[in-house]
Amino acid sequence: MLKIEKLTKIYPGEPPVNALSDISLEMTEGLFGLLGPNGAGKSTLMKILAGLLEPTSGRVTLDGADLSNPQNRLRHFERLGYLPQDFGFHSHLTGERMLGFLLELKGVTGPKGRKALVSELLERVNLADSANRKLREYSGGMRQRLGIAQALAGDPRLVIVDEPTAGLDPEERLRFYRLLAELAVGRIILLSTHIVEDVATVCPKFAVIRKGKLVALTTPRDARESLKGQIFEGVVEQSNLDTIREEYFVTQAMVYDGANKVRLFLEKGSPPADFECVPPTLEDAYFISMKTENHLMGTGLNKASGGVL
Ligand code: ADP
Ligand code: MG
Repeated sequence: MLKIEKLTKIYPGEPPVNALSDISLEMTEGLFGLLGPNGAGKSTLMKILAGLLEPTSGRVTLDGADLSNPQNRLRHFERLGYLPQDFGFHSHLTGERMLGFLLELKGVTGPKGRKALVSELLERVNLADSANRKLREYSGGMRQRLGIAQALAGDPRLVIVDEPTAGLDPEERLRFYRLLAELAVGRIILLSTHIVEDVATVCPKFAVIRKGKLVALTTPRDARESLKGQIFEGVVEQSNLDTIREEYFVTQAMVYDGANKVRLFLEKGSPPADFECVPPTLEDAYFISMKTENHLMGTGLNKASGGVL
């Protein structure tokens, strides 16, 4: 189990940046999503969990081993696979060469030697056919799969992937989800993302952070359930849109077939005329968790089933 207790990170400077405030979370085997907008603190948390950045206060333990202990930290690196957000590849190298080079840096050799391990890993992430192609010819999805291959070397207990699906097209994204789901058996995979669909599709459990604070800890189903009967949808004339926004909590407004299709969150009272109660989506839940201050506070974190706070 990966346990995060009261983690706070303040980047010193003028003014100091409070990137994480009092975050507590526990993750067991399987895929766990960390969802939040740009600047929420996702990469900061990932770097701390990877043992690359010191927290200002708080504690991280993996299977009971406290990361602040130097001995444990060395051991942590051996049990960790990490795909950073800005992973650099040398585009003139082939996939095989690049991966070989990364494994050398990581100090990992397989039982049959490093070359055999490179082939195995390329097979695992479905890149064997492109092993001899230069990285400049790889698509975004292929690059991310190569990134996952290096993270998997050494059979890590914990795999951390920071925004791996940004910039992938829908097909590549689905393929990447399948790979992550396969790999999550018997290990902890932590996926950070600003894309709601990522957690909706592959994460049985996820947390939402905003401005360094934990605002939800839930499952996709519980997040939707918590809003049941409170999301309404209707079509609004352009001239009425501002009034609706002032009077109601609009979660989404999109132009659809020349009209404004509006979804809104309503706990009590009546919706505008011709609005219908609709099944909540995870986007609704995410949007509400981004916009409310203490709104649903107390309904989620203290409840065993979780919920949007
Ligand atoms: P995310 O990955 O969710 O986009 P980050 O963890 O990168 O968020 O950043 C969280 C906050 O910390 C942001 O306000 C960012 O500007 C700030 N930040 C990140 N890295 C540093 C740093 N090295 N020094 C100072 N501030 C930083
Ligand atoms: Mg980031």
